[in-house]
Order: sequence, then C-alpha cells, then structure tokens
Amino acid sequence: MEIVFASNNAHKLEEVRSKLPKDFTVLSLKDVLGDVDIPETGDTLDENASIKSRYVFERTGKNCFSDDTGLEIVALNGEPGVYSARYAGEICSFQDNMDKVLEKMNGAKDRSACFRTVISLILNGEEHFFEGRVDGEILTEEHGEKGFGYDPIFRPDGFEESFAEMTMEQKNEISHRGRAVQRLVDFLSSR
Ligand code: IMP
Repeated sequence: MEIVFASNNAHKLEEVRSKLPKDFTVLSLKDVLGDVDIPETGDTLDENASIKSRYVFERTGKNCFSDDTGLEIVALNGEPGVYSARYAGEICSFQDNMDKVLEKMNGAKDRSACFRTVISLILNGEEHFFEGRVDGEILTEEHGEKGFGYDPIFRPDGFEESFAEMTMEQKNEISHRGRAVQRLVDFLSSR
C-alpha cells in the first residue's frame, strides 16, 4: 500500500519506514506536494496532527498520516509541549531550544518529563488517532550526538543513556513515536 507521511524530516521518515512492513511504500510530503510548509496553528498535538494529514488528503486524495510531538516537562507546567519546535522563537535551531530548556531547568529538583506523539491517519477518508508516550527526565547537560531535537537532554526511564546515545533501532523500540507508529502499524496490518 502506498501511504503518505506528511513530513519532510529525514530522521522521522527513516524511523517510520524501518517500522512499517515492506509492502508499505511511504511517500514524503515533498514527494507528493513539493516544497510546502504546512502551518501548525493548532493548540494541541491532536489538532496539529489533524491539520497536517487533512491538508495532504484534501490536495492529493491519498491515504496519509502525520504526527505531532511535544516534550512535556513537569517543572515547566507542560512546556514546551505543542510549541516544542519553536520554543526559542519562530526561527530557531534544535540547539537554541535545548539551551532554553536547560536554562529554565537550572536548579529544578523535579526533572521529570515525557515525550508524547499523536498520529492522525486518514484512511479512505476516515480519520483515526494513535498516541505514544515515553516518560523520562531532563538531563543537566547534553549527552550524545545521534538523533535530533531534544534527544541529547532526554533520558528515558529505565535507561542509562540519553536518546542521543542510542542507536535508531534502540530509540525506535521505546520512543513516543515508535510506540505511536507501532499502534498505527498494528491497525493498518489488521485491515
Ligand atoms: P514535531 O511536531 O513532531 O515535528 O515535533 C516538534 C518538535 O519536537 C521537533 O522540532 C523537535 O524539536 C521535538 N521532537 C520531536 N520528536 C522528537 C524526538 O524523537 N526526539 C527529540 N526531539 C523531538
């Protein structure tokens, strides 16, 4: 089955392709619509995921899914949450965002946090949602160089390493997106 993943993030596309069975061909946003930037104007992860999958479905008619992820930090009342991509400003790097989190968390006793991913799938015109979550803590400094985003400062519960010190396969097995994608895969495989 051909399905669009409404993302151009190479890391995410690689993660998702490695989880889906071989008979799925995953097209990227660029593959079907070229260089577009879908505005993420929702106030929740569900809304943003939905905006992206609907955008693609309305323009291509293809089965499609999209994900939206947020890092939710308890000591920061759930920030950066839905604003994880642009926490340090409209135009900012992963480094800027990590620096802002580390600065705000300076001296915080409770360093617990979670990553949460919501996937919106539009299959034959019907929308379905899947969620994945991983709990962990915000480290006091960066560890590791793999992955992307906040990976160097997030250590999942039960592990010694940050996400940025894990291989893609290790991260995929336990990550928020890995878990949400697994639910998506189970659903698609059962049809
Ligand atoms: P998105 O909405 O799924 O693109 O995610 C929003 C932001 O959350 C990204 O720009 C990253 O900063 C961060 N993020 C998403 N997934 C991950 C992950 O697996 N590890 C670290 N950071 C992530």
